[in-house]
Amino acid sequence: MNSYIKEVYDHLVERAPEEREFHQAAKEVLDSLEKVVSENEVEYRRVALLERLVEPERTIIFKVPWEDDNGQTQVNKGYRIQFNGSIGPYKGGLRFNPTVRLGLLKFLGFEQIFKNSLTGLPIGGAKGGSDFDPSHKSDSEIKRFCKSFMTELYRHIGPYVDVPAGDLGVTGKEIGYLYGQYRRIKGISENGVITGKPISIGGSLIRPEATGYGLSYFLKEILDDNNINISGKKVSISGYGNVAWGAALKMKELGAKVVTLSSSRGYIHVEDGLTKEMIDYMLVVRADSNKNLKDLAEKFKLDFQVGKKPWEVPVDFALPCATQNELDLEDAQKLVNNGVIAVCEGANMPCTPDAIQYFEKNNVKYGCGKAANAGGVAISALEMSQNSIRYSWTAETVDNKLVDIMKHIYRSSKEMSLKYNVTLSQGANIAGFLKVANAMLVQGDY
Ligand code: GLU
Repeated sequence: MNSYIKEVYDHLVERAPEEREFHQAAKEVLDSLEKVVSENEVEYRRVALLERLVEPERTIIFKVPWEDDNGQTQVNKGYRIQFNGSIGPYKGGLRFNPTVRLGLLKFLGFEQIFKNSLTGLPIGGAKGGSDFDPSHKSDSEIKRFCKSFMTELYRHIGPYVDVPAGDLGVTGKEIGYLYGQYRRIKGISENGVITGKPISIGGSLIRPEATGYGLSYFLKEILDDNNINISGKKVSISGYGNVAWGAALKMKELGAKVVTLSSSRGYIHVEDGLTKEMIDYMLVVRADSNKNLKDLAEKFKLDFQVGKKPWEVPVDFALPCATQNELDLEDAQKLVNNGVIAVCEGANMPCTPDAIQYFEKNNVKYGCGKAANAGGVAISALEMSQNSIRYSWTAETVDNKLVDIMKHIYRSSKEMSLKYNVTLSQGANIAGFLKVANAMLVQGDY
């Protein structure tokens, strides 16, 4: 390891030993910058470029008190990490999930810097959220929580400052409540302050589909480049939320058979591939905080493998779309033994580092999340554009732009991988990094 990289990495682990996911994400990026950093070491050291890169520009932590349906006040923690704004307003989702901690959001915010940079659009990196668990909450509880969350957050965001969106546990419904409270407090119609909005308040067509569609387009780029067909192939998808839904829709449209979906409790297996009706039903499940994947399995009488992961099913492509570190070395070995051709990450950091290494060693085409799932945030940026010009584009226009953006991401990742003789995912990290690094350098020492 380059000694400058090692110093920076060791220092960040030493200062916050408990932020495990952040260390994992930082190490993955820093390792892939080895050659670029060695080339520019004197300059980067002089301006402490890497030290500044791994340190959020601003971290906001606040309390979120709200009243539950029994009249009991509950208190959650709220966070917003404005990680790097050198190429544009901070941009990234809000995650409402009991696992939310500072270290988890730092990993997500850090990844977002490079992902957003890769889209080629002017958006900085951020992430936020709360340890609030929206499952089994009534609609009024969710509404009261969102109001309270925004009552603090509003002072830290704005269309030119920081533009949140959804992530796990935050759908168009929550975004609607959040924006309503923002507008009420500020007394201004400023809908470019948040993305992933319902269409009626300035959301973009194709935004709900964008992450899963973009993931499928990215996989298609990899396959086209290697003369491999999608049609008739089997694909396993994990998760059953927004990303899994968009990916299932598009992969089916491209002629693949989607044979699995999963939750933390197990997976469903459909040998002939999900039908359109089943994919559409995912939205019904998602809209109801009391429903989960079991309801889908029961409705269509599908095989539900309790307590197991979908990676044991023989497939050509695997698209992990659930959550971080959901696919480990053992899963990677099963996939490789069963002849998997390509793995693209719909979730953020779903494959563990040893799983990734195993894929790459065995010539499995691997698309890292920062590149493969960037379609969601890219269309968020186009939602901002549409809000700015007070206009909305057709679904076709947005979808065509999404295709172009995913092609651009693939091309720039590939170009860097060839230039530096590294893997495609390392090439993606380099491409994302260089744009941000240059923007930081020309702005002096912030
Ligand atoms: N949460 C999504 C992501 O991980 C989308 C963020 C956004 O649209 O700002 O990229």
